[in-house]
Amino acid sequence: MSERKKETLIIIGSGPAAWTAAIYAARAQLDPFVIEGSFHRTMVPGGQLMFTTEVENYPGFPDGITGQAMMEAFKKQAQRFGTRSEMEDVVRVDFSGHPHILWTSGDDEYEADAVIVATGANARWMDVPGEERLAQSGGGVSACAVCDGALPHFRDKVIAIVGGGDSALEDALYMTKFASEVVVIHRRDELRASKIMQDRAFENPKIRFLWNTVVTEVVGDDVVERLLLANRATGEASELEVDGLFVAIGHEPNTAFLAGQIELEESGYIRAPTSWRTATSAAGVFAAGDAMDDFYRQAITAAGTGCMAALEAERWLSHR
Ligand code: NAP
Repeated sequence: MSERKKETLIIIGSGPAAWTAAIYAARAQLDPFVIEGSFHRTMVPGGQLMFTTEVENYPGFPDGITGQAMMEAFKKQAQRFGTRSEMEDVVRVDFSGHPHILWTSGDDEYEADAVIVATGANARWMDVPGEERLAQSGGGVSACAVCDGALPHFRDKVIAIVGGGDSALEDALYMTKFASEVVVIHRRDELRASKIMQDRAFENPKIRFLWNTVVTEVVGDDVVERLLLANRATGEASELEVDGLFVAIGHEPNTAFLAGQIELEESGYIRAPTSWRTATSAAGVFAAGDAMDDFYRQAITAAGTGCMAALEAERWLSHR
């Protein structure tokens, strides 16, 4: 273990929330240090935007921008004001006293006067053959209909949505604007989604349901061509030709390393005790982005809360 390094403000994460917090903090001369995270199968520095293709709904980019280019630009802008960073994972923290202490996967130990947690959330995937390959290559498999659904590839095509919660039905309803047919594939015969969403989906003539059904493989060379399915009630196998697949089976916040250190919701999302504030239950620890937001989950809202967290951290530090 190397000697403990002292920082004023540590920002954990490297998506839109983290870099926006860094831009604001660096400009406020807090000399922020960003611990970006390292490369994993479903989690990489840059966050979930690294897995999307074109971002078309972030204001200021009338022609769209790729998720990767956007995150490079965010980072570059933070670096322009002196932000330093390291690609490591924070594996353990001690937020019980002051200063806060953080340990990383690279065996580094840091102490910080204030911390902003912006570690994001990962979309849950089915983990079936073909899914990851066609999601990463932009081959018509995605976990975000709002992000990717309006792409020309899905126009007037048959689209499948997997899941039975509000997200799945929201995605299904959204996709009826573009697709010729939307097939919702759910593993049970009863939806988890709210009654109002169910009513809307059942009333929509473009949506049909496959009950008790799971996807066992996503088939296609460059783009998704068909799904191999299994009926959980009868065991029967079948196939469904589709041009797109949206997986909407929930998200998991990257907050496991915070257990016992700050208050989390039962779902694992960070609890911000006061609405419209980013302060957490631990003094001097602030939260931003998808790690504390299971509702909006957009790059623009993550960036907004990153800005809020930096402003709150600055005020907190100056009052100490
Ligand atoms: P969710 O409510 O947890 O639903 C996840 C769905 O995916 C469930 O139907 C679940 O099946 C299914 N599922 C989970 N793992 C699976 C797997 N490995 N294979 C196949 N299916 C799987 O998640 P969510 O829909 O993302 O919603 C999260 C929260 O946000 C909820 O509180 C929701 O109400 C809220 N939300 C609200 C709105 C809105 O109000 N407009 C929109 C979106 C989300 P089972 O049902 O069998 O468990």
